[in-house]
Amino acid sequence: MSGYLAAPPPERGIFCNRTLNMRAIKAIGYDMDYTLVHYQVEAWERRAYEHIRERLVEQGWPVGHLSFDPVLAIRGLIIDTEKGNLLKANRFGFVKKALHGTRPMDFEAQRTEYTRTIVDLAEKRWMFLNTLFSLSEACIYAQLVDLLDAGELPGPMGYVDLYAVVRRTLDAAHMAGKLKAEIIANPERYLLPDPETALALLDQRSAGKKLLLITNSEWAYTLPIMHAAFDPYLPKGMTWRQLFDVVIVSARKPEFFTTRSPLFEVVETQSEALLRPHAGGPLKAGMPYFGGSALELERHLGMSGDEILYVGDHMFGDVHVTKNVLRWRTALILRELEDEVRAIASFRSTEARLAEKMVLKERLEAESCHVRLELQRRRLQYGPRSEVPEDQLLARGIALRAELEALDAELGPMARAASELSNPHWGLLTRAGNDKSHLARQVERYADIYTSRVSNFLFVTPFVYLRSPRGSLPHDPNVPGGTPVFPSTDATSGSNP
Ligand code: IMP
Ligand code: MG
Repeated sequence: MSGYLAAPPPERGIFCNRTLNMRAIKAIGYDMDYTLVHYQVEAWERRAYEHIRERLVEQGWPVGHLSFDPVLAIRGLIIDTEKGNLLKANRFGFVKKALHGTRPMDFEAQRTEYTRTIVDLAEKRWMFLNTLFSLSEACIYAQLVDLLDAGELPGPMGYVDLYAVVRRTLDAAHMAGKLKAEIIANPERYLLPDPETALALLDQRSAGKKLLLITNSEWAYTLPIMHAAFDPYLPKGMTWRQLFDVVIVSARKPEFFTTRSPLFEVVETQSEALLRPHAGGPLKAGMPYFGGSALELERHLGMSGDEILYVGDHMFGDVHVTKNVLRWRTALILRELEDEVRAIASFRSTEARLAEKMVLKERLEAESCHVRLELQRRRLQYGPRSEVPEDQLLARGIALRAELEALDAELGPMARAASELSNPHWGLLTRAGNDKSHLARQVERYADIYTSRVSNFLFVTPFVYLRSPRGSLPHDPNVPGGTPVFPSTDATSGSNP
């Protein structure tokens, strides 16, 4: 009787920041690229990168020798366009790791540059890498900063100007159609198929949810890509278009969620698709639409706010704005989570040893502080003092320092391995040092739930009640490192010299 109970592997779970009852959701809106449809990131981004590079070569830039480096950047990093740096910040916006161009900044340089700086993404100095589409941009920008520093780019030009060129060139590559034509011509090279996504959507539709597709991609791209990603896996005779109640292309998110743009019907003829203004009234079944706005969509559906779940991969355009402006329920698709969860699992035994040694380190540090204080009070003759002879205290201080140095030598390689998990430059996506990363903070703020791919909904069914875990605070018991450590009393009384 248990054949219908399939537990997901840990990396395919649906993780919940705010409790979400799927039964209360009446409509589910989906983004397409990197949400319903996944790409071979390295292949897609390498091609996008090459398109940018070719355009720069055409303008006479000496960049023909550059090549895409897939590990140079990860989603969630921040480009400092004023300084030509790539940064990882923690949840408070403090910079924890930085590259200038492609070169790691040493501790002192990083301190000098950022010790008084808090990254605030509302300022235009900072560009957040919101999606996997951002990797080509970050990589070529970093490499171009190296060339700019070496005086090899046409000038005068600063880091901000350079970023503007990269941005403009990438926009043009995405929009010109040549790059997309290559993807459409060769879907098996660029798409990462997931046959189970079609079934997950069929489950939701059959459970009475309205399904919406809201993508920034054009109709000419959406049609072949959705066909390749869904039609082979749907029941015979069914196509992806029958899965969705509403299809909106060229949606111009995030403006789609914040402003009112005109809505057009996409009229398909034998050879092309034409746009015709939507005359008002209800949306026609089976008709793809272009543009429009979330407000118009809410009116059409007769639904709003917490009855709609929007699922997307773009941290700002899909999740942050929808939550902030419309108060829709939100799901973030983070494909990298699968690697992240596996990397964390593979590190568990080292992590346990690291935690054990940290407990010891904290204890020794605490004792060392107390020895020092004891000596200070004696020297200045104030406050209560113990009976422990002074030479014993001094010897204990020296012994503690030696123990701590030995411990640090053991901890160093383990801490370094922890910081290189998943990516040699940047480590885990969701961590920055010992804290949550800036990306993780945004995920918890704006995404009610997050998961690696849409087909993970299969494991939980359209009827699930997703509950968030109890949030922890540093003063809670059992939070490692959360409460100050005190040396054992026998150590300060001198019986443990
Ligand atoms: P969505 O994720 O389904 O909304 O679609 C994302 C669309 O935005 C795709 O058609 C991408 O080609 C396009 N896109 C992604 N990054 C950029 C960019 O930097 N400039 C312009 N278009 C982009
Ligand atoms: Mg997307």
